[in-house]
Amino acid sequence: MCGRSVEINEVLIDEASLQKRVGEMGLTITRDYQGKSPLFVCVLRGAAIFHADLIRKVDVNLLVDFISVCSYGDETASSGAVQLIKDLEMGIEDRNVLLVEDIVDTGHTLSYLVHTLKGRNPASIRTCALSRKDRAQLDVPIDYLGFEIPDVWVVGYGLDYADRHRTLPFVAELKPEVYS
Ligand code: 5GP
Ligand code: MG
Repeated sequence: MCGRSVEINEVLIDEASLQKRVGEMGLTITRDYQGKSPLFVCVLRGAAIFHADLIRKVDVNLLVDFISVCSYGDETASSGAVQLIKDLEMGIEDRNVLLVEDIVDTGHTLSYLVHTLKGRNPASIRTCALSRKDRAQLDVPIDYLGFEIPDVWVVGYGLDYADRHRTLPFVAELKPEVYS
């Protein structure tokens, strides 16, 4: 096996566009959370790079924690059943929680997370996603959305296929023949 580029089709979001949009999202979030100490929850592992960039564009005293769920395994179709792999370390009661996710596809993952964390009585819970796929989804609100993308499997900027391609600085479409 060889370099990364052989498995990649088109670049959908280039590096400059990612940085520009993350900066804009950071400004909006900064404005909305003035005077608060929100807890930014990174949904591992795909959102790690987005989360790391975003928190450095937000100018409030924020806290970070990490949660990990799984619904895909090494497949590219959601099983629908979301499983908690690693829970938060912090308690969230009376905290303003912002869930930071990489992609919303069917909406199962985000909806599971919102539902689970709401049960712990946070002061508020909002959602932020780098991207959302253009297709039918559960009705889960995304308060801060980076990009709408087509319904293809994407990699890069933290997103993987079988744990490959996470370190690409852009978001690109995986060649369909790689996963079909
Ligand atoms: P959902 O539960 O909304 O169907 O799927 C959301 C989760 O599936 C995301 O957290 C993300 O990890 C993963 N996912 C969905 N689509 C893609 C994709 O195109 N590429 C990658 N790498 N992950 C995806
Ligand atoms: Mg994810």
